[in-house]
Amino acid sequence: MNELDSAPSVDVAVVGAGIAGLAGALELRDAGFRVAVLESALVPGGVMGTAEIRGYRIEVGPNTVQVKGAMRAFLERHDLTGGLVPASPASRHRFLVRGGRLEPVPLGPLGLLRTPLLSTRGKLRLLREPFVPVGRPHEETVAEFLGRRLGPEAVRALAGPFLTGIYAGDERRLGAAAVFPALVEMEEEAGSLLRGALRRSRRPVGPAGLRGSFSYRGGLGGLARALASRLGEALHLGARVEEIAPRPESAGGGFELGYASPGASGRLAARALLLATPAPEAARLLEPVAPQTARALASVRYAPIVSVAVGVDPRACREPITGFGFLVPREEELSLLGCLFMSQLFAGRAPAGRELLTCMLGGERWPEAVHVPDRELARRIQADLERVLGLRDQVEVLHVHRYPRAIPQPGVGHPAAMEEAEAALGDAPVALAGSWRAGVAVADSLASGTRAAEQLASRL
Ligand SMILES: Cc1cc2nc3c(=O)[nH]c(=O)nc-3n(C[C@H](O)[C@H](O)[C@H](O)COP(=O)(O)OP(=O)(O)OC[C@H]3O[C@@H](n4cnc5c(N)ncnc54)[C@H](O)[C@@H]3O)c2cc1C
Repeated sequence: MNELDSAPSVDVAVVGAGIAGLAGALELRDAGFRVAVLESALVPGGVMGTAEIRGYRIEVGPNTVQVKGAMRAFLERHDLTGGLVPASPASRHRFLVRGGRLEPVPLGPLGLLRTPLLSTRGKLRLLREPFVPVGRPHEETVAEFLGRRLGPEAVRALAGPFLTGIYAGDERRLGAAAVFPALVEMEEEAGSLLRGALRRSRRPVGPAGLRGSFSYRGGLGGLARALASRLGEALHLGARVEEIAPRPESAGGGFELGYASPGASGRLAARALLLATPAPEAARLLEPVAPQTARALASVRYAPIVSVAVGVDPRACREPITGFGFLVPREEELSLLGCLFMSQLFAGRAPAGRELLTCMLGGERWPEAVHVPDRELARRIQADLERVLGLRDQVEVLHVHRYPRAIPQPGVGHPAAMEEAEAALGDAPVALAGSWRAGVAVADSLASGTRAAEQLASRL
């Protein structure tokens, strides 16, 4: 990678080389703009990374991706689809913990009718959904919105644990419009989720994604490396942006960035900015440039996560380790939020005779988990796996990664607040991207990066 001194002035400075920044930068570079990506870490990918430890291949952040339409189109544009690795077909089978045991998540309407996860009363309540009057979903939490449409039992038994899996969050605080925009639209368009789903099945909505869950060649860190290698010398690792200031028109306008890298510091001039850092950092950097936007970004809340990779001997488990993994409803009072059976999803993740599990702890349920020592985390994981999987052997702790700010927690009003924050930028050549913008999954972050690139390209 190049020294920044040789590129003191660019069209666009991209701050942050997580999936959002990498994707946005590639789009801009391919559209013919001179781009510099400044990333404080020494490796690209942000929270997305893969480690090889004692014969295991471990994801330190995200474990699988859903390739939604915009991500698929991006990968195709950049000839990167060849590296996608689909999860094994068994990944369709997911579990919830109920009374300490694994219960399959129902697949399809018939499964929903048969599942013991809902009482007869809860199932009958689901059938009333088409007759529930339209409400004010933009003013509701997920629990209020889905509780109104599907009944409180469906929220407690199904939606709550599902949101734990994606947001490590609390359905009583997450906003319906931010978390389930498609469901909110269905209610608005068709007056019911069922009618909305039927209508949508008859007309295509945007570019289609790929079915199922995916990883990438070499793990998800391999996807980050593939994007980084396309950027080549435009990517500057170990360069932390310390400050951004507007440049006077007399000096050509735009912005000047001050950055620090190990043993050096420097400045970079840019006509435009693509900020792809976590929201609090984007807020800090934007303060001198766009204080109103900065204030809105500073208010985005995050949930912490501790991700612990463990190896186990499947012969020492009462339950078969098969399928995607399990999620833990709040009432079960376990330390784990959930656990993914990674070596069942993708080949080559564990040595022969072992299984690799990714255990998630913390979230809104137990935020203090990030301060708990490794030994205590291991003890709690051991106890939970003994209870749920009937594990009779010691777990092999391979890797512990703490994320004090792992996943944004968009509340009621978040989408409108973010749109206002963007609107407050006026026609300034500044674009925002990241998991806090419009969806927390890898595919959403990536899409926010490509969208930000489009916005800038039309302004430059
Ligand atoms: C533990 C965990 C598990 C997850 N599991 C999944 C999953 O299975 N599937 C899924 O779809 N999603 C998952 N997610 C969510 C998803 O991984 C993230 O939302 C997404 O990868 C975030 O990408 P990003 O580019 O927005 O941000 P980040 O990855 O946070 O990247 C931001 C980058 O900005 C850099 N930066 C910050 N400040 C500066 C500065 N001043 N100067 C220069 N650089 C700076 C950071 O170093 C970082 O590299 C998970 C997240 C976590 C934390």
